Amino acid sequence: VKGYEGQKVAVLGMGRSGLATAHALEAGGADALCWDDGQEAREKAEAQGLTLHDLNKGNAWEDVAALIVSPGIPHLYPEPNKLIARAMEAGVPVDNDIGLFFRSFATQEWDNFEQLPKVVVVTGSNGKSTTSALIHHVIEACGRQAQLAGNIGRGVLDIDSAHDGEVVVLELSSYQTDLARALTPDVAVFTNLSPDHLDRHGGMGGYFAAKRRLFAEGGPDRAVIGVDEKEGVYLAGQLSEGAADDRVIRVSVDRKLTGPGWQVFARKGFLSEYRKGRQVGSIDLRAIKGLPGSHNHQNACCAYAVARTLGLAPRQIEAAFSSFAGLPHRSQLVGEKDGVAFVNDSKATNVDSARAALGAFTNIRWIAGGLGKDGGIESLRGDLGGVTKAYLIGHSAREFALQIGDLPHEICETMEAAVAAAARDAEPGDTVLLAPAAASFDQYPDFEKRGEDFSRLVQAVI
Ligand code: ADP
Repeated sequence: VKGYEGQKVAVLGMGRSGLATAHALEAGGADALCWDDGQEAREKAEAQGLTLHDLNKGNAWEDVAALIVSPGIPHLYPEPNKLIARAMEAGVPVDNDIGLFFRSFATQEWDNFEQLPKVVVVTGSNGKSTTSALIHHVIEACGRQAQLAGNIGRGVLDIDSAHDGEVVVLELSSYQTDLARALTPDVAVFTNLSPDHLDRHGGMGGYFAAKRRLFAEGGPDRAVIGVDEKEGVYLAGQLSEGAADDRVIRVSVDRKLTGPGWQVFARKGFLSEYRKGRQVGSIDLRAIKGLPGSHNHQNACCAYAVARTLGLAPRQIEAAFSSFAGLPHRSQLVGEKDGVAFVNDSKATNVDSARAALGAFTNIRWIAGGLGKDGGIESLRGDLGGVTKAYLIGHSAREFALQIGDLPHEICETMEAAVAAAARDAEPGDTVLLAPAAASFDQYPDFEKRGEDFSRLVQAVI
């Protein structure tokens, strides 16, 4: 990254993003002073040839141009981080890798000013990864180049050299938007808002404020905003520049949006785009296999809106949607046989995401259980109308069995037994759905491994 040539920059947190940040700073001619409170992380940094510097020492902040903090480190709530507070007291600007990315990106010289790379960012409580990946997929399927990074696996500092005409798509969590000193996307998406990570943001207000920073004064040229919660309505209202404004595209999966502005909404599986009171585009989302359920229709509306801001046509976007396979472990169709679909939503680690997955299908043979969260699945009782039978696995199997009332069930213990039993029972038109509503750690290292195990077992029975 550019901007700190010949200067000392402190980097706190030696996880994936911290390591990438330190290397990117060094590559840009800066002197990265690395620190992590954990010894293992420090050793990893040293093994990669980075220089450690104890930032707790009295004179640690002398001549330091900036402190770059990893997104995993809580800085204000529930308690201010002492080290960060000391840096601030010493007058050291605090930033993160996202801020570095935008600073560096904005200062690059481009050959053709008309064709500058565009930066699209996606934030929100749910659907960020799916929406980001779908935007990336649509752009590429329409024959343009795009890069995907951020919260979705690849560090943002791995992509500071986009080409002219290319689109950079970044998924950003509230932890990342919170501290960044520069946030200058061309298009910003706000999918939805529900209580999440509230302890780290000091409540709902702080959480919304962190996300809103992407839309600050002088912010994006175009904003795509989900207006199914009051915060989205408010944000869209604040950004609108007039009645026939085309800076803001409002998105809903709740209701038909009306008015003179620009809107994209989905109702009964149909996506509609209206501009200045006229319908200008539509897509039958029910025909798109990779995007089942109304939660995915919200993701589809957001991605569609972004694609429209980039000048793509509704028919092109529709064709691109059709070839979207879905993200691994999120309502992912992993097999089909004799009219039975097998769907992997291992990412549904809590009741809210399991509810979204359950709402997307009917005639469900539901594989659930694992390491249950507080309260188990008590609150899902009203959402089981589409379920024919539950196949319960893991630590919470017996607890879940008690909580689902009269619903037919079988205690299977293992994934292998559950897949075999569900496949044995399933009839044409059924969906065998893994949506555990529980963490995976009792039987697997993570939800990805759990989903992979399911997919592998499905291949064996179909
Ligand atoms: P994020 O990146 O915000 O965590 P993902 O796209 O990874 O979101 O989806 C995580 C889980 O949340 C999925 O398995 C799905 O069940 C649910 N989900 C996806 N999109 C939405 C949405 N728009 N609204 C509510 N829930 C969603």
